[in-house]
Amino acid sequence: MRAENAAAVVDGNAAAGILSEIFAGDATTMIGVCGGCGSVAPLAEAVVELDDDCAIVRCRGCTHTLVTVIRAPAQMRVVLGTLREVAAPRP
Ligand SMILES: [Zn+2]
Repeated sequence: MRAENAAAVVDGNAAAGILSEIFAGDATTMIGVCGGCGSVAPLAEAVVELDDDCAIVRCRGCTHTLVTVIRAPAQMRVVLGTLREVAAPRP
């Protein structure tokens, strides 16, 4: 969608509802698309390198890093890698 075709152009607060629709549930059930190899699979099928404060989620097909989640002292950080798209079924 291009900005000139949008029904409304507003600030990011307006996206709170639609963002919570996809990120409120179990993220591992989302279907991810790898930008490295085009693999389409549930995130639960990815390979994860894990320690107490970090999870590096890698594509099972090509091993590229899909996303890294870091538990920092003051915040949670998500660093996007080759995860091109996620999809979740609507309730
Ligand atoms: Zn891949």
